[in-house]
Amino acid sequence: MKFYQSTRGGARATAWEAILEGIAPDGGLYTPEEFSPLNIEEMLELSAMDISARVLTALLDGFSAEEMTRIVREGYAGKFETDELMPLVKVGDAYVLELFRGPTSAFKDVALSLLPRLMTASRDKAGAREEIAVLTATSGDTGKAALEGFCDVPGTRIVVFYPEDGVSDVQKAQMQTQRGGNVRVCAVRGNFDDAQTGVKAIFADDREHRWAAQAKTRLSSANSINLGRLAPQVAYYFKSYMDLARRGEIAMGEEVNFVVPTGNFGDILAGDFARRMGLPVAKLICASNANNVLTAFIRTGLYDRRRAFHKTASPSMDILVSSNLERYLYLESGRDAALVARLMRELTEKGAYTAPEGVRKALSERFWAGCADDTDTFRTIARVWHELGYLLDTHTAVAWSVYERFRQQDDNGKKTVVLATASPYKFAASVLTALGKAPAPGFAALDELNALTGVPVPKNLAAIRDLPVLHTDAVEKRDMLSYVKEAIR
Ligand SMILES: *Cc1c(COP(=O)(O)O)cnc(C)c1O
Repeated sequence: MKFYQSTRGGARATAWEAILEGIAPDGGLYTPEEFSPLNIEEMLELSAMDISARVLTALLDGFSAEEMTRIVREGYAGKFETDELMPLVKVGDAYVLELFRGPTSAFKDVALSLLPRLMTASRDKAGAREEIAVLTATSGDTGKAALEGFCDVPGTRIVVFYPEDGVSDVQKAQMQTQRGGNVRVCAVRGNFDDAQTGVKAIFADDREHRWAAQAKTRLSSANSINLGRLAPQVAYYFKSYMDLARRGEIAMGEEVNFVVPTGNFGDILAGDFARRMGLPVAKLICASNANNVLTAFIRTGLYDRRRAFHKTASPSMDILVSSNLERYLYLESGRDAALVARLMRELTEKGAYTAPEGVRKALSERFWAGCADDTDTFRTIARVWHELGYLLDTHTAVAWSVYERFRQQDDNGKKTVVLATASPYKFAASVLTALGKAPAPGFAALDELNALTGVPVPKNLAAIRDLPVLHTDAVEKRDMLSYVKEAIR
C-alpha cells in the first residue's frame, strides 16, 4: 500500500483518505510518498479515457484498474464534445491542447467530472456513511465545473463561494442558473483570495469545533489542493504526448515542453507529477498574468505576495497565493516537511519567503517563467487570430504570449504543447475587445463573436441565457462560516 504524506509532516493517509479529507489536519497538502513510473510505450495505442484510467490507477493507490476505468467512463462519457476528450490542434509551430471541450467549457471539467465519483468511491472504501459536503472558493471556472460535477450526486452536497466582482458575466450566469437539489451558490464581498482564505478558515473552525460531524456531514474540498482534483490533470500530459507520437511529430522518448497558464500552480504541478511518472518533459513553462508572483519566484526563489492585486482579463489566474506550490516545495526539498511548514508560516506572517538553494536550482532547470499583462494578452489574441486563424481565450493567450517570448529568448528547439484552458466564448467580451470591437453587454457578446469569427458557440453556453436565475445569495467575508453551517443543517 502506498501512502500520501502531508507537506507539513503531521499526517499520513491512504489515497481514499486523502481524497475524502481534502486538506490534511495539520494544514498541509497530501502528496504521494512515491511516484510509480509508467511505461509510455504501452500507452501509445490507448484511448484518452484509458490513458486517464491508467494514470489514475498508478497515482491513486488502492483503486483497482477496473474500478478506475468505470469511474473514468461514468465521469466523462457523453459529457465532452468528443470521446477524445481534449483534442490536440496544431497552431503555427506549436500544439494547442484544448482542455475546454467539457460541460462548462473550461479545463477544470477534466478533474471535476471525476472528483465526485472518486469521492463516493473513497467514502465507501473508508466504510463511512456521512454526507459529503464540498466547500469551494472559485475564481469562476472551478465553481461551475464543480456544480456540474456534483449536481444531484447522491450523498453529496456542494457550497460554492465566488468573489462578487471577480468573475465574468457569463461565469456568474453559469453559476446562478445551476440546477440541483444539493447545490448552494453564494457571492462573497471581496476578491478570490478572500474567498479562498474564508473557506480555509471554515475547515479550520470545523477541525476545532466539529460542528459538521454533529450534522452527520464530512466537509471536503473541490479546490485544486484536493489530491483527487490534481490526479486527473496528470493524465492529459500523457494524452497529448501520445497524440504527438502517434502523428509522428515526435519520436517516442523525445522531450516536449508544456506551456501552462497558471494561477494556483495546480495545472502545472500536474505536469511535474507526469514528469516524475516518466513522461519526457523538457521545460514546464509557467505563464502568469499581471499577478506575476510565480514569475518572480521561478526566476529568483523569492515568493512575495506583498504586492498589488490586479484584476485582469484572465480572472481565473488572478491569484497571489498559489496553494499547490507547497507540494512542489515539499517534493523538491527532499520532503522536508519542517521546512515547508516554516515557509508557509513565513508566507502567512510576513507575506514572503525564500526557497532554499536546492529548490531554486531545480526550478531553474525544470521550469521557465514569463508573464503577460492585458495589453500583451489582447495583442496576442488579435495576432494569433489574424495570422494563424485560431481564436484564443484570454488565459490561453497569456500562455501563447509567454510561449513566444520563450521562443525568442531561450528556445531549446523542442516541440511545445500550449495548454488551452477555456473557450474564447467564456470570455467573449474581452476577446471582442482584443479584436477591436466594442462588446455588447452580457450574452449578446457571444453572438457578436460568433458573427465576427464563425467559431461555433459551445452548446452549454448558448443554452444558459434561457435558464432561470436560481441563486442570488451574497455575504460578507465574516459571514461565510455561518452560511455554511446553515447550508448543511
Ligand atoms: C483555473 C484556471 C487556470 C489556472 O489553473 P491553476 O490550476 O489554478 O494553475 C487557468 N485558466 C483557466 C481558464 C482556469 O479556469
